[in-house]
Amino acid sequence: MSFQEKTLQCSDCGATFTFSAEEQELFQSRGYTNEPKRCPSCREARKAERYGSTGTGYRSRRQMFPATCAECGKETKVPFQPREGRPVYCSECYGKLTSSGR
Ligand SMILES: [Zn+2]
Ligand SMILES: [Zn+2]
Repeated sequence: MSFQEKTLQCSDCGATFTFSAEEQELFQSRGYTNEPKRCPSCREARKAERYGSTGTGYRSRRQMFPATCAECGKETKVPFQPREGRPVYCSECYGKLTSSGR
């Protein structure tokens, strides 16, 4: 069976790219049954993202979000996405509030 070059559309950026006969052969030899969904440049970008090229987030499992403490106004980081209308406290104030509040 021979492969024919195909033109596919990238699901990320919408650009068309060529899925060459060689690549199709390579895909099949590796047991991949799906056609690539992304163009080569988007694939590269995804790979870079996965390996944490930005340097952060690879070792720390928890994602931290920047927030401003509602009590003292200090900048802090919280392990959840701060929501509007919900006060966020730094660890100091949070400790104070929870210990004195009850
Ligand atoms: Zn793309
Ligand atoms: Zn605070």
